[in-house]
Amino acid sequence: MKILNLKPLKSLKTLMTASVLSVTLAMPLNTVQASEQEVNVYSARKEQLIKPLLDAFTKESGIKVNLITSKADALLKRLEAEGMNSPADLLITTDVGRLYRAKQVGVVQPAMTEDLKNQVPVNLQDLENYWLGLTTRARVIVYANDRVNPSELSTYEDLTDSKWKKRICIRSSNNIYNQSLVSSMIAHKGEQATADWTTGLVKNFARKPKGGDRDQIKAVAAGQCDLAVVNTYYLGQMLNSNDESQKAAAQSVSVFWPNQADRGTHINVSGVAITKAAKNKDNALKLVAFLLSEESQRWYAEANNEYPVIDGVKISDTLKNWGSFKSDELNLSELGKNNIQAVRIMDRAGWR
Ligand code: FE
Repeated sequence: MKILNLKPLKSLKTLMTASVLSVTLAMPLNTVQASEQEVNVYSARKEQLIKPLLDAFTKESGIKVNLITSKADALLKRLEAEGMNSPADLLITTDVGRLYRAKQVGVVQPAMTEDLKNQVPVNLQDLENYWLGLTTRARVIVYANDRVNPSELSTYEDLTDSKWKKRICIRSSNNIYNQSLVSSMIAHKGEQATADWTTGLVKNFARKPKGGDRDQIKAVAAGQCDLAVVNTYYLGQMLNSNDESQKAAAQSVSVFWPNQADRGTHINVSGVAITKAAKNKDNALKLVAFLLSEESQRWYAEANNEYPVIDGVKISDTLKNWGSFKSDELNLSELGKNNIQAVRIMDRAGWR
């Protein structure tokens, strides 16, 4: 039984006569129940990249959204610890690896409806209805405009060529985006070929991995390396930054889409799953539908330079400038499946 929220009564009292008040008091049962509609979100997306959409959802639906943001691994631990007492209804992450883990540890449920699934390409969703991709992000090669001719570039595999010796910057193997890239290599080429690839890649590192994707772009701009492997939206953020030095660094590099002649460029998703403990499942599903709406998808493309998962959505000028590309259509569940082997292979190759 929900406790009535009597807050509005205070202001009403001062304005209304007793008879009007009694009529109004009869009404709030409905209005109070409606205003108590809520959905609780655990998000590994930073607040500024989700809150505006949640506010728009509340405005449209009247459903209140309670948001908790944290690192994905912390949210997963929390969901595990809370078990069926968790207040969370929805988990949002920025990579498929964590969605896969959430499914493995049993904190999410197979609740995605046919209607929602039909909107999302089949390779960007869990085949057992546990999660859906909301946006895609490509992991590309960026190169120094003044030191690399794009005709020298072709595939991720080619990054092991001796011509790139001491010329590549990439972040550490702890990073899930790199783990997913290596996982995709395992899916396509097998473990041995992937082990050889990572060994060759590490040999070509210009420096010990450090920093995030933006730092790799800055290192290319500063001449510490000539190539970097990064997610597209980081470059997009830098190009649109108010910080002139970030902007200048980003402008000194260009995007190269690897593997266009074969399987396509590696992509990942930000995505969503309904928690096992969800007490507001219907509202959570309404929120997922909202996040897949054209309005939300366009917002992501504009605000964070991510690619929509639904067709026909307008994309940002930044994305338009990079042109279209062929993406790897591997089912993203494979990335989660291969994660442990990927980490082991990276470790053996000395990728720190
Ligand atoms: Fe990121």
